[in-house]
Amino acid sequence: MDFELSPEQREIQTLARDFGAEKIEPHAAEWDREHRFPRELFGELAALGLMGVCVPEEYGGAGADFLSYVLVLEELSRADAGVGVTVAVHTSAVTLPILTFGTDEQRSRFVPPLARGEHLGAFALTEAEAGSDAGALRTRAEPDGDGDGWRITGAKQWITNARYAGTVLLFARTDPETPGAGGVSAFILDGDHVRVTRDEEKLGLNSSVTNDVVVEGATVGRDRLLHDEGKGFRVAMTTLDGGRIGIAAQ
Ligand SMILES: Cc1cc2nc3c(=O)[nH]c(=O)nc-3n(C[C@H](O)[C@H](O)[C@H](O)COP(=O)(O)OP(=O)(O)OC[C@H]3O[C@@H](n4cnc5c(N)ncnc54)[C@H](O)[C@@H]3O)c2cc1C
Repeated sequence: MDFELSPEQREIQTLARDFGAEKIEPHAAEWDREHRFPRELFGELAALGLMGVCVPEEYGGAGADFLSYVLVLEELSRADAGVGVTVAVHTSAVTLPILTFGTDEQRSRFVPPLARGEHLGAFALTEAEAGSDAGALRTRAEPDGDGDGWRITGAKQWITNARYAGTVLLFARTDPETPGAGGVSAFILDGDHVRVTRDEEKLGLNSSVTNDVVVEGATVGRDRLLHDEGKGFRVAMTTLDGGRIGIAAQ
């Protein structure tokens, strides 16, 4: 097995390292002290293709491989781990699951704005009483009176990027009769479907935002359901399997 990086992987690694040294590192201590989310930075990362490194070019990404993406996370995190976690959640926990589980229509509609960095992505699974035991989540998606859709209501906790998110991958119980993981579905929401109620005060990663949010009767159609109804937990667990690699790269 060849463990050498390819010339393309080295090139992306160098690009991210240089960007980190020039644009992130000099400000990292100040952002950390002031708990400042450097919103403008993500536009600059997007201009270099670094908000969608491993997303195919046809969906607005840089078309590189997953290892290149991990190298970028290492380099960004070397400069500031808060920036690393923002990009990791945006990519691994939102963009990639939509690519993996989305219909053609969902991929074409939701992935390009994420990959081009026009939207920041958030992944909303955790709740106050559903952390490690994520299948216990209580946010509910009830059939919408008008027909083929849902009305989503609930509260989520510790959601990275939520305050600035344009796209939120959110998990809700569509089947109240099935407790645990079985009754959960995944939905692609817009940022304004959720309301941020709190900024978490963390001990570190202070240039990233971690929020409590509520969803207050957001109505969505079937076009917002990611993967099959009742299969949301599979989406969540598959996402976290990939996401752990990104978090490890920090
Ligand atoms: C900075 C930060 C960012 C985050 N971003 C997101 C995000 O973007 N989206 C999101 O959905 N969530 C996010 N989370 C939430 C994170 O995924 C949860 O913290 C995680 O799911 C664990 O839940 P918990 O903290 O409630 O811990 P708990 O579930 O209360 O667990 C506490 C401890 O008990 C242990 N434990 C739990 N159950 C058992 C058991 N049955 N047997 C033995 N030991 C057990 C755990 O291993 C852990 O050590 C974030 C958290 C942090 C800190």
